[in-house]
Amino acid sequence: MTKHNVVLPEAVAIPYPPSRATAPAAGGGGSYAIPRKLLTKLELSGGINGWVESMKASSPTHSKAAAAAAAYAAAHDDNNNSWIAKHPSALESFDEITRLSKGKRIVMFLDYDGTLSPIVDDPDLAFMSDAMRAAVRNVARYFLTTIVTGRCLDKVCKFVRLAELYYAGSHGMDIKGPVKGTRHAKSKTKALLFQPASEFLPMIDEVYKALLEKTRSIPGVKMENNKFCASVHFRCVDEKRWSALAEQVRSVLKDYPMLRLTQGRKVLEIRPTIKWDKGKALEFLLESLGFADNKEILPVYIGDDRTDEDAFKVLRERGQGFGILVSKYPKETNASYSLQEPSEVMDFLHRLVEWKRNSDLKHHSRV
Ligand SMILES: [Mg+2]
Repeated sequence: MTKHNVVLPEAVAIPYPPSRATAPAAGGGGSYAIPRKLLTKLELSGGINGWVESMKASSPTHSKAAAAAAAYAAAHDDNNNSWIAKHPSALESFDEITRLSKGKRIVMFLDYDGTLSPIVDDPDLAFMSDAMRAAVRNVARYFLTTIVTGRCLDKVCKFVRLAELYYAGSHGMDIKGPVKGTRHAKSKTKALLFQPASEFLPMIDEVYKALLEKTRSIPGVKMENNKFCASVHFRCVDEKRWSALAEQVRSVLKDYPMLRLTQGRKVLEIRPTIKWDKGKALEFLLESLGFADNKEILPVYIGDDRTDEDAFKVLRERGQGFGILVSKYPKETNASYSLQEPSEVMDFLHRLVEWKRNSDLKHHSRV
């Protein structure tokens, strides 16, 4: 496994309203390693500056983020080895994983961006490769598989194009079962559909349109209507305009106290205040599939983002299954294992299918 050497504060929750700034990770339930100095600065600064600082801190290529990561690495010299010891590669620990799976039924949960597809500048172009699609298709033949994503359902379905999967879009606020039946899900679960925040739909649409209008004058802004979440991508916005962008977003948001703002990888996301996240979606799916109290079920969740931590945490707290974090760098995480990038995720999926095929063959030859 390649050496992990820095910790990047990749995603933080932005204090909103900014005049009452709080610690960046406090509202989001995440536990990312944000260097203490940065935290203090955010707490004290408030206002629009607090937002911009936070946007910089979450930008892995930004000098501030790099300096913070270097400071963290220096302060945690033994960090790399202890992190790898705590979150070993899922590929290198494959035998251990299959031992854990013995006699159990794996249920697979996969994030999309950064897990099955590479992170790209234009979110509309985050395509998954045919090879990855084939790997996911194969996995779904052997294990019930759900895609859990921040993207809206329509968009992620267009990217993935596999009708036999379950999908939990908009951070789990929009859940639907397979269009065509699978051998894991017969008629009982086929019509699964769940939208815990449907009353927010008109409001999000209104905010999306208002933001589209307000941010029109800022070059490089990419707005995305994820149905239950309006996303403002600033990956291609000149850093000099970040403050203007934050100001515009704030001016729209002040009229919507029922919505909250969070931040992902170079994206500001506006979503309902209800307590619903990928962890809740995971619990909902396990329950509605009749797996809630079934100790023979082994949920495996693979994801790369702070939002996936909610799901990792649920698995850890249930003492059932485990999370795999996709990251090149050590990060505070509730996942048990790690994979460095989507290509390793693909290798892992292949190995899982190969192992399952072989163990099924052995089982049949004994019968
Ligand atoms: Mg992701």
